[in-house]
Amino acid sequence: MKRLFYNCTIVDGTGKNPPYRGELLADDLKILSVGMENSFAHENARRIDCGGQLLAPAFIDAHGHSDLSALAAPECFARRSQGFATEICGNCGLSAFPVTSRNREHLQELYAAYGVEINWSECAEYRKLLQQCAIELIPLSGYNTLRAAVLGYGDVPATAADARLEATLLSAAFDHGSPGLSLGLLYVPGCFAKREELLPVLRTVAKYDRVLTCHLRSEGDRILEALDEFFALALDAGIEKVHISHLKLAGKRNWDKAEALLAKIADAQTRLRVTADAYPYTESMTDLGVIVPEAFGVFDNATLGTLLQSQENREKLAAMLQSSRGEDASPIRLLDGEFSGEMLTDAAARNHRDPWIFAAELLAQAPNSRASFAGISEERMEEFLALDYVCVGTDESSRPADGTLGWSHPRNYGTAPEFFRRLAAQKLPIEQIIWKMTGLPAQIFGLSDRGVLAPGKKADVVRIDPSGFHSEATWTNPHRPAKGVTL
Ligand SMILES: [Zn+2]
Repeated sequence: MKRLFYNCTIVDGTGKNPPYRGELLADDLKILSVGMENSFAHENARRIDCGGQLLAPAFIDAHGHSDLSALAAPECFARRSQGFATEICGNCGLSAFPVTSRNREHLQELYAAYGVEINWSECAEYRKLLQQCAIELIPLSGYNTLRAAVLGYGDVPATAADARLEATLLSAAFDHGSPGLSLGLLYVPGCFAKREELLPVLRTVAKYDRVLTCHLRSEGDRILEALDEFFALALDAGIEKVHISHLKLAGKRNWDKAEALLAKIADAQTRLRVTADAYPYTESMTDLGVIVPEAFGVFDNATLGTLLQSQENREKLAAMLQSSRGEDASPIRLLDGEFSGEMLTDAAARNHRDPWIFAAELLAQAPNSRASFAGISEERMEEFLALDYVCVGTDESSRPADGTLGWSHPRNYGTAPEFFRRLAAQKLPIEQIIWKMTGLPAQIFGLSDRGVLAPGKKADVVRIDPSGFHSEATWTNPHRPAKGVTL
């Protein structure tokens, strides 16, 4: 059955055309025609009155982590409720494939909370399972998963044959539609890979003309060096398209690096197409375990949990945290279990514990527990969101509203409305805001079938009430759905 969307202002996702009063005709799958008001009045179609709202392409989440959570809760309410119909997953080096005897057990444990049996090996099989989901998930190939499939999770050197095998496995994923490779150079085991191991893999990205994304090795103290490393790797491998994941400057003492950071990106733009995604929040979120200093000598959560069963080790860690995280360390907010949304210092005081001992105890009980860190400057964040090469990304795993698969950072339900609201407040033209949520991410990941309203494109559209589109998600109530948007 054809559908006619009328009484709306068309924002077409190209970023170029100003909004105009128009109509859109679509069948169940594809857009048939887009025109001015009353163009299709004669068509035999189900008429959908948009009530004067904006009509735009459905949003594309350029940076998601719903690789397994979407299989556990395929309705993907956290995405759909804010207008996303597509998510690029497999980010930060972590994808759900390839799976071999070297990494299956680890991945199963890592994703234990979702109760999904990892019974696939390759991208193609995994993508078939994703078809049950209510949004389209398009998985990047995560380098850390790829390396673990060949070498496991330890700090072991790769032989030339290992590197070739990594490249072969990557080619197979590219042949099955994975749009690029994601690096997570901060995380195990990608952090162990030497340049000579990475290059054959990266040359595969170049050969297929795919995008290389990166969770930089540092987003704070050494972010400039981390950017140099990323750009140099891409250039050496002959890659043309690079993408910085969740662009931000972490830690107050690094905020003055913004100018140098942007200059470095501008310089790289002369040789590479550099893009980025960003979420509109000043608190980042990751494993609480990232606070463990390098000198503690543990790189993975499972080993950390085991070691911290001993009181001596907990005290040793607490002492190291005391000295390594000085007065200006970013305040830490706990996100899991009974402390969800509470600051570490408050939770510790309530339990009459020293904060660092308390953190060590939490890690002993739940080494995978997550925390957020208030280390992003609001002013810089706003500036980054508005850059013409930055698109929207949640950096979250879609989880059901009732918390059955755990709780989230409010960005899980609030990224699209917050992104829209903050850029609208900066007076960025509406067509450019929508482009950063649709046409731009489509272009970055080579999704030529969506992201703009034009004949032949996917019939995924959103209706937006521009003054009522807002996030209801908070730290204490992170799963409240957005208002003012209909997918
Ligand atoms: Zn990341």
